[in-house]
Amino acid sequence: MNFELTEEQRMWRKAVHDFCEQEVKPKAAELDALAEFNTEAFQKMGPLGLLGMDIPEEYGGAGVDSVSSAIALMELGMTCGGTALSVVAHSGLGCAPISLFGSEEQKRNWLPTLAMGTDGLAALALTESRTGSDLVGGVKTRAELEGDEWVINGDKAWITNAGVSSLIVTLCRTDPAGGSRSLSLIVVPTNTNGLHIHPAEKKMGVRASPANAISYENVRVPKDHLLGEAGRGLYQTLEVLDGGRIGIGAISIGLAQAALQEAIGYAKERETFGVPLIKHQAIQWMIADAATQIEAALLLIYQAAWLKDSGKPFSKEASIAKLFASEMAEEVCRNAIQIHGAYGYSSEYPIERMYRDVRLMTIGEGTSEIQRMVIAKRVIS
Ligand SMILES: Cc1cc2nc3c(=O)[nH]c(=O)nc-3n(C[C@H](O)[C@H](O)[C@H](O)COP(=O)(O)OP(=O)(O)OC[C@H]3O[C@@H](n4cnc5c(N)ncnc54)[C@H](O)[C@@H]3O)c2cc1C
Repeated sequence: MNFELTEEQRMWRKAVHDFCEQEVKPKAAELDALAEFNTEAFQKMGPLGLLGMDIPEEYGGAGVDSVSSAIALMELGMTCGGTALSVVAHSGLGCAPISLFGSEEQKRNWLPTLAMGTDGLAALALTESRTGSDLVGGVKTRAELEGDEWVINGDKAWITNAGVSSLIVTLCRTDPAGGSRSLSLIVVPTNTNGLHIHPAEKKMGVRASPANAISYENVRVPKDHLLGEAGRGLYQTLEVLDGGRIGIGAISIGLAQAALQEAIGYAKERETFGVPLIKHQAIQWMIADAATQIEAALLLIYQAAWLKDSGKPFSKEASIAKLFASEMAEEVCRNAIQIHGAYGYSSEYPIERMYRDVRLMTIGEGTSEIQRMVIAKRVIS
């Protein structure tokens, strides 16, 4: 068993780290306060390969392995949770279904521009105002075939990147009879008539990442915008989410690492009872626990990513990694605030933003409860 990153993975980490230090970290606090997307950084991400992580090289992407994707998302998470979320939503959710299930023509048509972000990003629209966890029972957005076109009507909610995307992969009910074979993924360009993207939600955290509600009013797209076969949408979505969960786990680790660094830095400066905080055993134990949990989460993420790269089943491991990493990161950020005392509660210190950002990680791409259901199902059967 080899726990070492390859030379290529180390170089990739350094490149992404340097990029994040220059382009993401300096603006993170301001963009969080203004709830603004980091347009400038995203314009530079394409050439670096960050927008094409889930796109094979033959279609203009970086085609990096899953361990490398996780490394990049950790680095992004360390500097700005919102920017990291928009990257994983574009790459792991928006581009991945086209890479995995698209025809040759669809891949040639959409992937090269998505890899560079020239016309905008990609989004995946599953959630609706009345349903998130229960897609099979809950999805009401319907697509009906009329001649050579799908006609889509319905609504979606909380769709990351919708306002900055050129296309939205949309989960639609194509068979009114319902059931697990009644859903399909259809690509909807954002300039299609009848598609209304509403103003970005006002969020607690990950505020540099826009999430929008969408209405579909007689939206017509060509028949060949369907990904794969009609009726396969649920299975395709679950496969995509397995990969996305590794990404959310990786962002969680990045946030936890950053929080730990902030806590250590602060504890070295602040004095109580005549010594720096860092000298108190209670503080050292919080730091030791955080370091231990981060290390454990990292191994779980690398394991799930390695299984994915090896072409082995990784659904259970991705859920375990996401569940552990996101809940661990929330606790680490909580304790990092505790170490800061009152200043941890101030927006003058970055730990306050990290705590708000990390709160999403146990909700997005399947809540902790849904991860436990996935894990239990596989452990029990
Ligand atoms: C910032 C942000 C970005 C997002 N980006 C996207 C995106 O890009 N695309 C997209 O499609 N969606 C996106 N979402 C939506 C997200 O995926 C959903 O919020 C999530 O899947 C949960 O769905 P829900 O909010 O409808 O909760 P619900 O499904 O209504 O669940 C509510 C609560 O009940 C629990 N629960 C539900 N069913 C069960 C059960 N059987 N047993 C036990 N507990 C249960 C849940 O765990 C949760 O705690 C985003 C959400 C946010 C906040």
